Amino acid sequence: MIDLSAKRPLLECEDVVCAYGQIQALHGVSLRVMPNEIVAVVGSNGSGKTTLLNAICGPVNPVSGTVRFDSTDITGDAIRRVVARGIAHVPEHRQIFADLSVHENLLLGSYSWYRPRVRHEAAEEVERVTEVFPVLRERLSQRAGTMSGGEQQMLAIARALVSRPKLLLLDEPSLGLAPLIVAQIFEMLAGLVDQGVSVLLIEQNSRQALKLAERGYVIETGEIVLEGPGKELLNNPRVQAAYLGT
Ligand code: ATP
Repeated sequence: MIDLSAKRPLLECEDVVCAYGQIQALHGVSLRVMPNEIVAVVGSNGSGKTTLLNAICGPVNPVSGTVRFDSTDITGDAIRRVVARGIAHVPEHRQIFADLSVHENLLLGSYSWYRPRVRHEAAEEVERVTEVFPVLRERLSQRAGTMSGGEQQMLAIARALVSRPKLLLLDEPSLGLAPLIVAQIFEMLAGLVDQGVSVLLIEQNSRQALKLAERGYVIETGEIVLEGPGKELLNNPRVQAAYLGT
């Protein structure tokens, strides 16, 4: 278990409030992700999970509150600046470039640091991530849109890793995938912390997410209502009744 008091958080959201016009979607959310930690945020439809990720990485500008990354205030920063600092976002529904090949999609992951003189590094980075996802190595020339849902999800995560992130934000990576594929993807996520990547995972698949995560948060109608070690939350009667169907 990571000692929260001993280290500086990698990501820290403090009292983040977000609204879409008159609709307030987050009512003062605070959370932390420590270096080399997997953190899950679970909650039902419309509870504010996607809004939270978007407030961290740019598309949604918080009305108030602070987002700090690596001790720097990044609240409201543009997406390209956030990516350059070391945050990669894998959005819901993956958003891969369907008409480009797997290889081209992966190379695009390097856009935040790519320079012609370090061109070889982009190729090396693609090589490195395909070691984590052997299925992609076999399909580098395949058009991305013709891959299965699970393969596309792996491609989206792999592309994010090519950007050399310190923190990976994942929005519902299990959505629409068979349990076996989900298990493979979550196993790979567990291995990322050994490579120095932290993960903030938002999921409706609460059981899998809380099994994987060191710590978890439960969000309901834009508020964090519970937090604690993943395993503790799995055994919490309120979580079990509301999210685990037990
Ligand atoms: P899901 O699991 O269904 O994706 P979520 O937990 O990610 O849901 P959000 O998508 O963050 O929840 O939505 C939180 C609230 O904000 C909801 O009430 C939603 O209707 C509202 N909302 C989200 N995006 C917008 C938008 N662009 N305009 C207006 N309201 C929005």
